[in-house]
Amino acid sequence: PQLANLLEVNGIEVIYNHVILVLKGVSLNVPEGRIVALLGGNGAGKTTTLRAVSNLLRGERGEVTKGMIQLRGERIENLSPADLVQRGVVQVMEGRHCFAHLTIEENLLTGGYTLKNKGDISANLDKVYSYFPRLKTRRTSQAAYTSGGEQQMCAIGRALMTSPRMVLLDEPSMGLAPRIVEEVFDIVRDLNQKEKVTFLLAEQNTNMALKYADYGYIMESGRIVMDGSATDLASNEDVKEFYLGVG
Ligand code: ATP
Repeated sequence: PQLANLLEVNGIEVIYNHVILVLKGVSLNVPEGRIVALLGGNGAGKTTTLRAVSNLLRGERGEVTKGMIQLRGERIENLSPADLVQRGVVQVMEGRHCFAHLTIEENLLTGGYTLKNKGDISANLDKVYSYFPRLKTRRTSQAAYTSGGEQQMCAIGRALMTSPRMVLLDEPSMGLAPRIVEEVFDIVRDLNQKEKVTFLLAEQNTNMALKYADYGYIMESGRIVMDGSATDLASNEDVKEFYLGVG
């Protein structure tokens, strides 16, 4: 039986600054409960695709000019990022974006401020610490003085504070040592399996992403050029030649 799609992106075009056409008709599906990877090199359009979904383009002077984006069948192109958080969709931006001068715990708490039930905040904090024991150890440290891996975990942890059903994760491996990348991806898998969080993750590290994802889309110059199950992609000769070993 086919799984219901949580997210459907249909033929979207994105233009920056009114002139630069960056996405040239991107379509993809993210079934409920899955980990879907959006792969491709630098500048292929992965970040732009995630921003289109979470409506973070405006700050970048970008806009969706064609196509549609649906969450459980509802059009979401005009919803604010805050509306999306209410519907369970949250983005973890590339480059981690922790507040450097706040402690790890303060950073996590900023993620919980939208929760209506304040009791959920401490429950979610406990949950984040159970998935990221490293963050618990470092809870009183200023984020600026924690490692890159800890900051990435903090960024994911902050997103988890909103009780999301879907996390858009941008380049979680960026700048991290392979062992730490694995640690982060292991936690992503855990969250997927135990909390049933759906992930759409953008990655240049094809190798690693295909080890954890169920399905992958490969982007080049603003288009999806190939898609398939992670196992099919990992054994595909073109993928091996052009993408594996990258990142
Ligand atoms: P990366 O891994 O480097 O983030 P990416 O696949 O995520 O790459 P995007 O960041 O989506 O790619 O960029 C796609 C294209 O859009 C690139 O050519 C980039 O230069 C351009 N672009 C991105 N942001 C803007 C912006 N704010 N204004 C104009 N052009 C932009």
